[in-house]
Amino acid sequence: MDWQIATLKSIKMISNDIASLVLAFNNFGSYKAGQYCDIRLTAVDGYQTQRSYSIATPPSASKDGLEFGIQILPDGEVSSYLATLVPGDQLEIKGPLGGHFIWDESHDDDLVLIGAGSGIVPLYSMAQEFVLQNESQDLSFIISSKSLEDLAWKEQISEMSNSNKVIDTNIFLTRQYPPEWNESFTGRINLRRLQKLLNKKSRANTEIYICGRTQFVEDISTYCVDLGFDSQKVRTERYG
Ligand SMILES: Cc1cc2nc3c(=O)[nH]c(=O)nc-3n(C[C@H](O)[C@H](O)[C@H](O)COP(=O)(O)OP(=O)(O)OC[C@H]3O[C@@H](n4cnc5c(N)ncnc54)[C@H](O)[C@@H]3O)c2cc1C
Repeated sequence: MDWQIATLKSIKMISNDIASLVLAFNNFGSYKAGQYCDIRLTAVDGYQTQRSYSIATPPSASKDGLEFGIQILPDGEVSSYLATLVPGDQLEIKGPLGGHFIWDESHDDDLVLIGAGSGIVPLYSMAQEFVLQNESQDLSFIISSKSLEDLAWKEQISEMSNSNKVIDTNIFLTRQYPPEWNESFTGRINLRRLQKLLNKKSRANTEIYICGRTQFVEDISTYCVDLGFDSQKVRTERYG
């Protein structure tokens, strides 16, 4: 697969440290929810570096460009540079990439999406695609965020959940929460909390997608297997 040039259509902060970048392509081709792209930067002296970024846009709504949700790390070589771009700037990009962490309408199991921080990006694509495909099975979207201000696409996720009976969204706030926030959803997701949320799910007919930093993914996938879910149906994406 070759590198291609994409043009930045828009850039804006959508949480304390996550920026939404919408890129326009001449010809991107088809992809599945959960896939990602590599972005490559080249300095004037020829030094090159690249990083992977998941696609937030659901495949069925990608005609106006692809949205990415990029956590801006102040010392991050690539993310801090991406934060300085302005509409019209061009980037080298390769994709779609990734074949195991994907969801499409051919999957008929109940769906559980569990993400932390920027790890919600591919899950947000899956959740939107699930809605666009009018799926009738249950979707449980479980999110861990430092605070509400750190949660990307807060309004969109809330609107999606409120307007779809089959979607159950639960947000855990680990560091700061409004006074009225349900105490059961403050602090980290642990085995007991996950058990409560997933109690009624079929152990054999549920697909679970987990994404975020390595430790988060390791912990949550272990809990899921301990709770009796089929390990073949627990899919993970680690952001390092
Ligand atoms: C398949 C895949 C998909 C990914 N999708 C996304 C995505 O959609 N959005 C996104 O923001 N990132 C995503 N990542 C992570 C991304 O590729 C980079 O690793 C991340 O942007 C950091 O790159 P950087 O050059 O800015 O920082 P670097 O210069 O590589 O790292 C700077 C320092 O920050 C640390 N660090 C790296 N990541 C984090 C983090 N998340 N939080 C705190 N410290 C960190 C590093 O250990 C290092 O010490 C994805 C990774 C993979 C493998």
